[in-house]
Amino acid sequence: MFGQMMDQPLLISSQISFAERFHADVEVVTRTVEGPIHRSTWGEVARRSRRLANALLKMGVREGDRVATIAWNTQRHLELYFAVSGLGAILHTINPRLSPEQLAYVVDHAADEWVFFDTTFVKLAEILAARPKSTVRGFVAMTDEAHRPASSIEGLLVHDTLLEAESDALVWPTFDERTASSLCYTSGTSGHPKGVVYSHRSTVLHSYAVTMTDTLALSAADVTLPVVPMFHVNAWGVPYACAMVGSKLVLPGPGLDGKSLTELVEAEGVTSLLGVPTVWANLLAHLASEGKKLGTVKKVVIGGSACPGTMIEAFEKGHNARVIHAWGMTETSPVGTVNVMLPEHEGMPWSEVLSYKLKQGRPMYGVDLRIVDDEGTELPRDGKASGHLQIRGPWVASGYFRQEGSDTHHDGWFATGDIATLDARGTMQITDRSKDVIKSGGEWISSIDLENAALACPGVQTAAAFGLPHPKWQERPMLVVVRAPGTELTANEVMSFLAGRMPRWWLPDAIEFVEALPIGPTGKVLKRTLRERFAGYVFST
Ligand code: AMP
Repeated sequence: MFGQMMDQPLLISSQISFAERFHADVEVVTRTVEGPIHRSTWGEVARRSRRLANALLKMGVREGDRVATIAWNTQRHLELYFAVSGLGAILHTINPRLSPEQLAYVVDHAADEWVFFDTTFVKLAEILAARPKSTVRGFVAMTDEAHRPASSIEGLLVHDTLLEAESDALVWPTFDERTASSLCYTSGTSGHPKGVVYSHRSTVLHSYAVTMTDTLALSAADVTLPVVPMFHVNAWGVPYACAMVGSKLVLPGPGLDGKSLTELVEAEGVTSLLGVPTVWANLLAHLASEGKKLGTVKKVVIGGSACPGTMIEAFEKGHNARVIHAWGMTETSPVGTVNVMLPEHEGMPWSEVLSYKLKQGRPMYGVDLRIVDDEGTELPRDGKASGHLQIRGPWVASGYFRQEGSDTHHDGWFATGDIATLDARGTMQITDRSKDVIKSGGEWISSIDLENAALACPGVQTAAAFGLPHPKWQERPMLVVVRAPGTELTANEVMSFLAGRMPRWWLPDAIEFVEALPIGPTGKVLKRTLRERFAGYVFST
């Protein structure tokens, strides 16, 4: 027998409709790409999203079509979140830090039909527009007519002009809650970037999860500033959750430096910040240099890379703001675990609190975690055994977009590529990473691409790239090279060869020469051994 509850699908459009009906006056504030601060409300965002949806319908956008964005955290991006997904089309948020080759790859792979871009990224849009064969039908500059960029793009449309021509009369369509809603590519695996397709159901469930008190606790009482980009896993789901709970939302646009963020926090009375450690390192350095305090901020959510103890201490002791350390992945929507204190931690000395807070936290209800050994046998949850971390749940990807089979999915579990311990209460601590990638400033660098580029350098016999801890960027790449016999290759020569062959921020911070690389039983280079060998290495930059 089925229950007799209304069978209403969990759709993203219901979040913006709810925001309009029940907290229409709550503010949405943006530092615009054009410069000034723009003040709006959830009510206006809802109306503008419907006008944009009407424009998209005229542009021929239909259920399942892909609409791409290359954009900062702004109100126009927020409108696209609701308009595109609300129609049953798929919002493909592109990371503007991708190399031009990767950018073209993801647009082709996704078969994007329209590309909306912030004027900051006009050059990227032009690269895409200049390609002879493409699925892209047109480009839209996310600005108003007065700021239309001078561009070679034929038939370039302008976001606000599209809206001005439309009415806000639209009834959001109803469809299956498992319909795809958005798409985000991750470079956090080897090979080409892989697409993760979120659904309406996964997005709404994840939104509920991040509003729970013992998770990120997003609330109507908060003024929320997500510094985490809207192109990176939907800004950790914050825009959806804020619409749901009616939190004032403050969007930083392109102003991610310490000074701009401080100004916004002070002017808008921000209480809740979310972002990666690199952003916070800049903010803390700015506050220290100005002798300022984060007056209104009550909590800072830190994730995307391990959160350093000094950062936790600086926020909690120096600025009286609670740090919530969280772990997640593009494949997990992203939040999987959150570190919040439990009753048994009451009265704990600060040194112990700090060592607890360095852990990645406990799973949110909805996701399940386990650790396994190399053979896939589950390991004990004793806080000591360390193994391959696997996760499952309704907001965890079951595979990658347009990819048959997967070496990351086993018996209904997703293998994260992180190595971790779990204790009896589910507290997870990452101890290492088995996936062959480097995460610098919250963004991925492919060690394989770096190695392939190095191998093409005359005089390089073999090479291995791996990440080493860095005080500012959390991790920076190091390249270890074995010279071809009889050559006198120098680090400068390798560096000059690599420059221009990859984005500048991918270039290794150090190049060292070795006699041979450590090789494991299956013939793979043992990156872990290399990381151990170079532990404590001090980069000169
Ligand atoms: P992404 O898919 O780009 O969000 O990256 C996900 C990966 O970032 C994870 O698999 C981890 O390797 C890393 N990561 C995310 N959050 C944390 C954290 N709190 N501590 C350590 N590593 C993290």
